Amino acid sequence: MGQYADYIKNHPNKDGYFGKHGGAFLPPELETAFKDITEAYARIRSSHDYISELRRIRKYYQGRPTPVSHAAHLSELIGTGCQIYLKREDLNHTGAHKLNHCMAEALLAKYMGKKTLIAETGAGQHGVALATAAAYFGLKCEIHMGEVDIAKEAPNVTRMKLLGCKVVPVTHGLKTLKEAVDSAFEAYLKDPVNTIYCIGSVVGPHPFPLMVRDFQYIVGAEAREQILEMTGNLPDTVIACVGGGSNAIGMFAPFIDDPVELIGVEPGGRSGKLGEHAATMTYGSGGIIHGFKCYLLQDDKGEPGPVHSIASGLDYPGIGPEHCHLKDEERVRYDVAMDDECLEAFYLLCRTEGIIPALESSHAVAAAIREAKQRNSGAILVNLSGRGDKDLDYVTENFGFGDEYLKDWDL
Ligand SMILES: *Cc1c(COP(=O)(O)O)cnc(C)c1O
Repeated sequence: MGQYADYIKNHPNKDGYFGKHGGAFLPPELETAFKDITEAYARIRSSHDYISELRRIRKYYQGRPTPVSHAAHLSELIGTGCQIYLKREDLNHTGAHKLNHCMAEALLAKYMGKKTLIAETGAGQHGVALATAAAYFGLKCEIHMGEVDIAKEAPNVTRMKLLGCKVVPVTHGLKTLKEAVDSAFEAYLKDPVNTIYCIGSVVGPHPFPLMVRDFQYIVGAEAREQILEMTGNLPDTVIACVGGGSNAIGMFAPFIDDPVELIGVEPGGRSGKLGEHAATMTYGSGGIIHGFKCYLLQDDKGEPGPVHSIASGLDYPGIGPEHCHLKDEERVRYDVAMDDECLEAFYLLCRTEGIIPALESSHAVAAAIREAKQRNSGAILVNLSGRGDKDLDYVTENFGFGDEYLKDWDL
């Protein structure tokens, strides 16, 4: 066993810290509620009933295991001999990895006797996944969403409503994600006994970064076994995109003690100027956001800074505390992919593999292409976190069908 053999067991520590990141900075009214969640989770984390129920749901409802696909045509086109493999979370029910933690959070809520799931959503992806889980378990669901996002993301609002979820429009401030988080927290504060706040990534106060990592661990665990079976070897490199960091941590965690390079890809956006990217690891510094410590994009006043990414699921000014620790430890390398590289990867995967990826996932594909160009053999495993159906209108209306982006490729 290597240096990281007991890593998962020892991280976070009992106070929810990964090195100097994480913790729980809560208003006093929520301390009891979070203590209850922590205790309940510690109890059921190893309970036979919970684990076997979750296994059953993953297999017979979500459609797990999702496959690993060899991107043979893409690899051939790159032409260096390096092979790219894709973990197909786009084939998970609802089209992304998010359902992995939403189903597990809802099951926990049910065990705890909660009646209502509360959350915020930006582009609507977390809202749809949580509304799906609520419908499955017969729980109520209340999703807070900025009015600006409601207008922009009509199909996801329709989905949530069809799934029986109450969508609460947030009308103050910039009417986007940050205000939606505040509004959802207020609603939770009113009744923390009957409701539970379901965080949508490996962020927020302890124990959420721990729980969501546990719930996403299945992605890397399956992929590790599948690629060993397919190729006889571990991959040289594993790559995932990082917004809050849930799909990446789920993919990385089972490889942490292996001699495998891990790369997290953040949105480089249009440029390195504050407000034109969401590359927390590259440009951020230590701070506190939404109840936990992490690297953070901040303005002159130390407030969370404005962010941009072509992929709305990646534009968060903070990042999961465990990723910050893995950066400090130099166990994971964090890199960026720019909007343009992401679009090129998006179009290329459509044409070479018949897979339309989410713009978030396209960041990871872009980094894989860049790496593969520089190698002459070996294998790169990419977490394809979701499918791109939600992005079709935006991409084609603004950037067309890809000819411009693919002109340097011999297709
Ligand atoms: C939400 C989302 C992400 C970003 O969230 P993480 O917590 O960083 O994984 C990435 N890909 C897809 C498809 C998403 O929907």
